[in-house]
Amino acid sequence: FDDIGDLVAVALSVRGGGRVIPCAPGLPDDCFAHDGQITKRPVRALALSALAPRPGELLWDIGAGAGSVGIEWLLSHPSTRCIGIERDPARAQRAAGNAARLGMDRLEIRQGSAMELLPDLPDPDAIFIGGGADDPLMGALWQRLPAGCRIVAHAVTLETEALLTAWQAAKGGSLLRIDLSEAAPIGGRRGWKSSYPVTQWRVLR
Ligand code: SAH
Repeated sequence: FDDIGDLVAVALSVRGGGRVIPCAPGLPDDCFAHDGQITKRPVRALALSALAPRPGELLWDIGAGAGSVGIEWLLSHPSTRCIGIERDPARAQRAAGNAARLGMDRLEIRQGSAMELLPDLPDPDAIFIGGGADDPLMGALWQRLPAGCRIVAHAVTLETEALLTAWQAAKGGSLLRIDLSEAAPIGGRRGWKSSYPVTQWRVLR
């Protein structure tokens, strides 16, 4: 086996009744323990597609939450690396637990605020900003990141969306609005239940 992840996948599949970890992102949300702060499956799949992991690359997952984006980055190839940055101690611990349970214990969690941790991190190939985006952090990141680094940021609130659209006007890259609905019961019938739209900004440093 190349990787403990392969071993876990096979062990789960031969056990019968266990779960097989699929090869493509996004995994079902219930693969991850979370407190509601998690990038949901279809949106996570679009995040991974934009992040476009390649063998050997390092991701910073800023505002790691349940760790789902970083863990799926690691699942993409056994040689990928990820540093998850999460300021909430309980979430940081939960993310580490989720990684370990999926055989991705090479997720390196750093607990603290992104701004404070920034100076000590090794150069990344890509970063995902799922939380903590504000103007000072974006400015610090833009200074810090190596040329060619892929930046993917998601916004749910109007305030963060305004930040990302302003940065896109200044720096370029592309904006994608992810506006998904899922069919849900309305009495005995069905209707489209909307999720909050997510704005994704993708740019190369
Ligand atoms: N992508 C995550 C969910 C992110 S929720 C997942 O799929 O699980 C946003 C997270 O960002 C929260 O857990 C919050 O605690 C964290 N956060 C917010 N501001 C931060 C900051 N300045 N530094 C580090 N983490 C931060």
